[in-house]
Amino acid sequence: MPEQSNQTEHSYQLETLAVHAGTKRSQFNEHSEAMFLTSSFVFDSAAQAAARFIGAEPGNIYSRFTNPTVTMFEERLAALEGAEQCVATASGMSAILACCMGLLKSGDHIVASRSIFGSTVNLFGTIFKRFGVDTTFVSATDVNEWEVAVRPDTRLFFLETPSNPLTEISDIAGIAAVAKQHGVLLAVDNCFCTPVLQRPLELGADIVIHSATKYLDGQGRVLGGAVLGSKKVLEPIYQFLRTAGPTMSAFNAWIFLKGMETLKVRMDAHSANALSVAQWLETQANVALVYYPGLPSHPQHELAMKQQKAGGGIVSFEVKGGREEAWRIIDSTRMISITANLGDTKTTLTHPATTTHARITQEARDAAGISEGLLRIAVGLEAVSDIQTDLARGLYK
Ligand SMILES: *Cc1c(COP(=O)(O)O)cnc(C)c1O
Repeated sequence: MPEQSNQTEHSYQLETLAVHAGTKRSQFNEHSEAMFLTSSFVFDSAAQAAARFIGAEPGNIYSRFTNPTVTMFEERLAALEGAEQCVATASGMSAILACCMGLLKSGDHIVASRSIFGSTVNLFGTIFKRFGVDTTFVSATDVNEWEVAVRPDTRLFFLETPSNPLTEISDIAGIAAVAKQHGVLLAVDNCFCTPVLQRPLELGADIVIHSATKYLDGQGRVLGGAVLGSKKVLEPIYQFLRTAGPTMSAFNAWIFLKGMETLKVRMDAHSANALSVAQWLETQANVALVYYPGLPSHPQHELAMKQQKAGGGIVSFEVKGGREEAWRIIDSTRMISITANLGDTKTTLTHPATTTHARITQEARDAAGISEGLLRIAVGLEAVSDIQTDLARGLYK
């Protein structure tokens, strides 16, 4: 497979692509992908250097531009998402930054879901505003609000589904149709589902964003991100990255290549474990509400099961008794990690109101439904019974 062209690779099943796509062997014919730790590349001659710099000859120049290990990561993820091209970035946030810096200019307008990652809200609402790019935040779930928010200067729609922490589902195909009608590009942050569970480009999105830091690594080791889409859309984004520099390191790309090889089995296992934990939580007397797209009680269960292959690994739940009870559950755990990170083999637990969503106002938290009794679990790959035992310690003290 490594000897074959990209086009051939696209006919393989997703689990096969996750293991093989993008692999390119060096002169040493290594089995595992090589990690090319070099900042620059040597030319055969002055003429070759000149040809590379003006783009007349393909090839590596400098690792801020391209690096063979990073290229393997990009080609593998592109194959999984069914994208023409992928550019790797230093983090998920630099993927979002590069996407916007490549596509937007002062005076442009973004319509974004209200239920997106906190740093993305800050980037759009505060930092971009200083540069004359305005953002209107709308409901993640009401397609009509997106339509109403469109202005003549709107250039980009941005959403994340399922949302964090309440697992709201945005109708990707529905919002893509509105975007298309108005000549606006739709970007979807696919961090929670990964291409194993959801492929936004097939549903009409133009751009897919990843924080590779989460499930693509899967073991909480390094930061990285990616932007995917057509060559045409990606060209100015790549130019921004190459010039400004928030690109992925070869070391991190190598970690992600190894992580992606197990992505399919991990996502299936995360989803199965999360469904079991969510079903168990629903039967607990001290739990008022459970948010999980894989549960029939989820208000958008049907849409979720239409656009996702499974519910994913994130479960949120509200305990009776507010912050005191929520914190007691956290502090009573012995195995589960108390951390806001997610997408790890280890189960993690956080109290959104005082961590990930602490910096927004009480009003905004209330409007978003992030109560003092809300907890978010990123269900890991431990035995479900052990996860339940750990949660039950504080649930019934
Ligand atoms: C973590 C996260 C990001 C940001 O990614 P970093 O790699 O931390 O920069 C963006 N979107 C979502 C949904 C995330 O969970």
